[in-house]
Amino acid sequence: MLNQFDTIAAIATPAGRGGVGVVRVSGTLVPMIAQAILHKVPNPRYATYSPFVTAQNALIDQGIALYFPAPNSFTGEAVLELQGHGGAVVMDQLLSAVLAAGARLAQPGEFSERAFLNGKIDLTQAEAIADLIDSASVQAMRSALRSLQGEFSHKINALLEQLILLRTYIEAGIDFVDEEIDLLADGQVQQKLSVLKQTLQTIFAQAQQGFLLNEGVKIALVGEPNVGKSSLLNCLAGRETAIVTPIAGTTRDIVRDQIQLDGMPLHIIDTAGLRETTDIVEQEGIRRTKLALEDADLVILLLDDRYADDQATPELLASIPSEPLIIRNKIDLSNHAAGVSPQGMVYISAKTGAGVDALKDKLRQRLGVQTQTEGTFIARRRHLEALKRTLIAVENAMDCVTHYQNELVAEELRLAQQALGEITGEFTSDDLLGKIFSTFCIGK
Ligand code: GDP
Ligand code: ZN
Repeated sequence: MLNQFDTIAAIATPAGRGGVGVVRVSGTLVPMIAQAILHKVPNPRYATYSPFVTAQNALIDQGIALYFPAPNSFTGEAVLELQGHGGAVVMDQLLSAVLAAGARLAQPGEFSERAFLNGKIDLTQAEAIADLIDSASVQAMRSALRSLQGEFSHKINALLEQLILLRTYIEAGIDFVDEEIDLLADGQVQQKLSVLKQTLQTIFAQAQQGFLLNEGVKIALVGEPNVGKSSLLNCLAGRETAIVTPIAGTTRDIVRDQIQLDGMPLHIIDTAGLRETTDIVEQEGIRRTKLALEDADLVILLLDDRYADDQATPELLASIPSEPLIIRNKIDLSNHAAGVSPQGMVYISAKTGAGVDALKDKLRQRLGVQTQTEGTFIARRRHLEALKRTLIAVENAMDCVTHYQNELVAEELRLAQQALGEITGEFTSDDLLGKIFSTFCIGK
């Protein structure tokens, strides 16, 4: 375990060439390191133009130094930022000089971890920093910003407050055994729990939307060779990524592609067909297809409209573990009208683009994508799991209230509080922290 009192340093800008490169330093040794590199401690929060030198007084670069004394910095510790020229050698030399002056190399996410440990940000905000940097769409970026600004934590903290009040009330009641029955009988506790449950459900729905925006959904695309799977992907993606060839059976291996629908990543698995075969390679493809079908959030079955009834055999439909979205392609050849039929079947031409907008609407509906993402905050699987545990504990508490089991109500509320507290980091283990921060990039 690395010492959390060490002064840490890292190059905070991406590797490679750039106009500016930044070395960031945090910890108690910062004034001493500034003295070594700059021969002075800069005025707090002023941009100071200065030469950067080694311990042997050799010039490395000249640039801007920024000094933030503790506790008014990102990490809550003394922070020094050295902005030099963004060349690999310059940055390497500058970092080496800082390390020689007493800092050690920071672990991934260690600056953010210190900001969390020093109470500058809570866990959801720390995670939002990573999600903001990694965001793949404007919608995901905005949601991450909302989490970073504390919107998610505010909601969680408001809920925590209500939970604690209720718990205190009930625990106080336990000490006065005679009044125990009355405490739960007047319906007030049950009513408060019911409000709590509704709020939790709303937050869960919002978090789920944020989770989808962050992680995306898995779609398995099934269809015989040549029905137009690759063409459909190209069409949805609006770019030439999948390979379109007129030879049947070319998509032998599983092809993965990622496209976006309103900023939500769709992880599409373009599968080999499910047809019977003696070819070893194709058999392997079919085995993988079956696994992908079970794992997918949505299965799309693509048919050639001219031969749709021959292709959608009962055996094929039975092999799909969930209700597939059925798309009939090549309507330019079958002369069928584009759009969604009353049975929910979608008619398109991946070649002309007819019906593709209707298909996107259908996809939004099936995947629960909201085009309007205002109020969504970025969320991770662990947040959803914690919210689910909270919800279960609150429901259990409501059940115990109806049986006048004061102590059990109090215990369930304690569990609810703990699950909720894990989200913001009020209750955490070192394991969890290590897992979260180790996925960050270095210098963050
Ligand atoms: P995959 O094997 O299912 O991936 O099918 P491809 O996307 O490779 O398409 C097979 C052939 O059908 C290619 O020659 C495509 O240009 C053609 N194709 C795909 N969609 C359509 C369509 O809607 N109309 C017509 N006329 N041809 C299509
Ligand atoms: Zn293909």
